[in-house]
Amino acid sequence: MTKPLNVIELECSACGKKYDPATEQHLCTCGKPLLARYDLMGAKATLTLENLKTRPRTLWRYAEVLPNDPPVSLGEGMTVLVHALRLGASMRFGQRGMERMFIKDEGLNPTGSFKARGMTTAVSRAKQLGAKALAAPTAGNAGGALAAYAAAAGLPAVIVMPADTPWANVMECQAFGAKVVKLNGLISDCAKYVAEHKDREGWYDVSTLKEPYRIEGKKTMGYELWEQFGGKLPDVILYPTGGGVGLIGMCKAFDEMQEMGWIGEERPRMVAVQAEGCAPIVKAWEAHQSSAQFFSNAATVASGLRVPGPLGDQLMLRMLSQTKGIALAVTDDEMLQAGRELASLEGIFAAPEGAATVIAARKLAASGWIKPEETVVLFNTGTGYKYAEAWQRALQSAGGEEA
Ligand SMILES: *Cc1c(COP(=O)(O)O)cnc(C)c1O
Ligand SMILES: [Zn+2]
Repeated sequence: MTKPLNVIELECSACGKKYDPATEQHLCTCGKPLLARYDLMGAKATLTLENLKTRPRTLWRYAEVLPNDPPVSLGEGMTVLVHALRLGASMRFGQRGMERMFIKDEGLNPTGSFKARGMTTAVSRAKQLGAKALAAPTAGNAGGALAAYAAAAGLPAVIVMPADTPWANVMECQAFGAKVVKLNGLISDCAKYVAEHKDREGWYDVSTLKEPYRIEGKKTMGYELWEQFGGKLPDVILYPTGGGVGLIGMCKAFDEMQEMGWIGEERPRMVAVQAEGCAPIVKAWEAHQSSAQFFSNAATVASGLRVPGPLGDQLMLRMLSQTKGIALAVTDDEMLQAGRELASLEGIFAAPEGAATVIAARKLAASGWIKPEETVVLFNTGTGYKYAEAWQRALQSAGGEEA
């Protein structure tokens, strides 16, 4: 037998109803996501900067605030925080550039995206709960990450994806031995497919926010920022937002930190960056709404942002307003251009999703929303190497020299 679970309860993010974490749980009966609660007073006694110094360099170092299952781990988390001086200098205010601009490079995670963070915790828990097969819809990187962690756990996986998902995502799932189902549609159609088949097929549904533990893995991005800035948080965080797990997760981490007395009521201002071809959160934000409408005809090369009807819309919008944040959209052309700029200035070949934050930062700096003295973190959520089709189109025009 393993140790008793350190998650005390699962609590509905909307109505507050409580659920038992010792059994398999998905959404609340009200249809909203559940959040894991811990004994934070106990956690804070041992979770200190000093103690962290000697812990393994994976996200499992924050053990007190993660489910204490035997980890199914591939070395995820503790990604570098690059001080982006040249990129910062390129964003000028008169004479002054942004001197404290940082890039958290999540492309360095196993399977090349931060989806690994959510999957290590979700799959570890699912295995302990006796799951027989894992299934999830994906717009791209989540599929590869689930397939890899399922393989590492010795469990079969079923990945349901749109037929036009980037090739690298299809190939990695096949290589990891997952069953791949391709549909003519969007991730919302794939989600429907999983929901309709899971009971009959005996699948454990690992869809974004439909089980409570992917958030737990992703919230560690917030803990890492705190640790990497020496026990402080940045002023502004720019995050490419699809399903919103990272945004919701980091805000959950900040709430936990406040409860542990590490920080006060102040928060980094969260910026949700979306693609103009799929921007349900930006639309709702600009219309001052508390929930988002389904975004029809969603299309963008940033496959991770192609989430037309995110389940966490209300949570995201609440967090943007609570942190005095903002939401804005950028075009595919802008992303691809910014990707080249980021790569050539800083040596980081980002996913188009990550590159989107560069455009957003430049716009917010130009408008004065971001001040030159502020500490700003851009999240590159994935590696550029998995987006061959998109770069091929964008870089062909850039040409090259024959030797
Ligand atoms: C999934 C994904 C996103 C969106 O992540 P959420 O936390 O679900 O909003 C952004 N970028 C990349 C590269 C992704 O794979
Ligand atoms: Zn509820």
